[in-house]
Amino acid sequence: MPEQRFKTLYGRCLCGAVEYRIPDALAYAGYCHCSDCRRFSGSAFSAYGGVQATDFDLTKGYDCITRYAKSEHTVLAFCRSCGSSLYAEKPSRGMIHVRLGTLDEVPTLTPQAHSFVGSKAGWFDVCDDLPQFETSRADGVLIDTKKPPEP
Ligand SMILES: [Zn+2]
Ligand SMILES: [Zn+2]
Repeated sequence: MPEQRFKTLYGRCLCGAVEYRIPDALAYAGYCHCSDCRRFSGSAFSAYGGVQATDFDLTKGYDCITRYAKSEHTVLAFCRSCGSSLYAEKPSRGMIHVRLGTLDEVPTLTPQAHSFVGSKAGWFDVCDDLPQFETSRADGVLIDTKKPPEP
């Protein structure tokens, strides 16, 4: 079982009604700057980590979760009592995108890239050296950040 090979990461919503756990084995992690993530998070971007849906263990508060299908590929899940954005279901890929801000600890794999930077908030500047994608990472179109080469 994968759960035994990896440390367990715990997460919860703001009010504590919903709790979950996942193995510390994120398949990928990143920041998404798309307008949907901005509205849903109320912030400049969302920070997410992908875990196999079969490894996502909702340990408390299933009845407190409201699910919103924003598209056929994405179902957003949030706590109906405190409103915390918890995760997105990606049914066509069999993945769950956990919102990293709901985790209690730092996962081993931290965000590796920024996606949908082409539609990021005009009031936010990306200030790290991670790769920036115009749209999705799958589309793979990188933005030239014009950083000088390392000496
Ligand atoms: Zn809550
Ligand atoms: Zn997004």
